[in-house]
Amino acid sequence: MTHWGRISNRKHTTTIMAVSHCLFRPATTTVKNTLSSFFIRSLSSSSSSSSGPSLDPKIDLEEAAAQLEKSSSSSPSPSPYKGRNFHWVFLGCPGVGKGTYASRLSSLLGVPHIATGDLVRDELSSSGLLSSQLKELVNQGKLVPDEFIISLLSKRLEAGKEKGESGYILDGFPRTVTQAEILEGVTNIDLVINLKLREEALLAKCLGRRICSECGANYNVACIDIKGENEDSPRMYMPPLLPPPNCESKLITRADDTEEVVKERLRIYNTTTQPVEEFYRKRGKLLEFELPGGIPESWSKLLRALHLENDKQSAIA
Ligand code: ADP
Repeated sequence: MTHWGRISNRKHTTTIMAVSHCLFRPATTTVKNTLSSFFIRSLSSSSSSSSGPSLDPKIDLEEAAAQLEKSSSSSPSPSPYKGRNFHWVFLGCPGVGKGTYASRLSSLLGVPHIATGDLVRDELSSSGLLSSQLKELVNQGKLVPDEFIISLLSKRLEAGKEKGESGYILDGFPRTVTQAEILEGVTNIDLVINLKLREEALLAKCLGRRICSECGANYNVACIDIKGENEDSPRMYMPPLLPPPNCESKLITRADDTEEVVKERLRIYNTTTQPVEEFYRKRGKLLEFELPGGIPESWSKLLRALHLENDKQSAIA
C-alpha cells in the first residue's frame, strides 16, 4: 500500500499533517506517482466501468432520453440517468457559472456535483496552522498545492464510494496540467465542458455573487447588460438572481470575491488553467460552450449542446 493509501486510512487530521509536509513544493514525478496511487483507491470502483458519453454524448444519451419519454409520471422522480456513471468536468474562468450549471446537470443526471472550491472552503473553516496558511493563499486568489487538493478530492470520492455514488461532475478540478495528468492516469474522463463568457461580465459576476450563510444557496445581485457591437458580439443581458425573502438577511460575500483578488484569479486562470483546456482539446474531449446570456437562455442551449434537450428534463433541473 502506498504512503498516501496508508494515510487515507487514518484520521483526517493525520492526512492534513502529512499533506503539510509536502505542501509548498512543486509536484515532481515521484510526488505525481504517489498522488496517483492515492487517487486510484478512491476511483477504483467506478473508473473502469465508465459508461458515460464521449464527446458526442448523443450516442449514449439518446437511449436515456427515450427512457425519459416513456415515463409518463409528472411527479418528481429519480433521474432517468441515475447509475449511468458520467465522468464529466467543468472548466471555465472564475465567475463564469461552473457551479450553477454543474449543479443543475448533477440534479438532471443523478450524479454528484463535486466542487473543489467548496471542499477547500469547508476545510478552511476548521482552525489550525495549515488552515490559516491555506486561507492566505485562497484569499490572495492563488491556487492551493496539488497535494492538498488531491487529498481533499480523494477523501470526498472515497466517502461517496461508501455511500454508493457512481460517476461525478467535477467543478474546479483539474486546474493545472499536473492535476489533469494525474486524473488521466487514474480514470477516464468522458467529457470536459469549457464554459465561456465575455470577459467584461466575469468580474461583475464575481463581485455580485452572494451566498446564503444558512442554506448555502448562491445568488447574484449584478445586472449585466452589455451593448451589442456587431453580429459577432450581440447584446448580452444577464438579470440578477435575487434571493427569496428568507435568505435576504443572511447573505454573505466570499472573502476572495474582491476586485483585486478576482483579477488575480483571472490572471492565474489564464496562465495556469488555460493550458488544461488545450490538454483536453488535444484528446478530443473538450466541448466549448459560450454562454449567450442568463440562466433560462443558457440552460436550454447547454442542454441542446449536450443532446439532453427535453422539456421534461429542463423542468426537472
Ligand atoms: P472560482 O470562482 O475561482 O472558480 P472556486 O470556488 O472553484 O473559485 O475555488 C476557490 C479557491 O479554491 C481557488 O481560488 C483556489 O485557491 C482553491 N482551489 C479550488 N480548486 C482548486 C484546484 N483544483 N487546485 C488548486 N486550488 C484550487
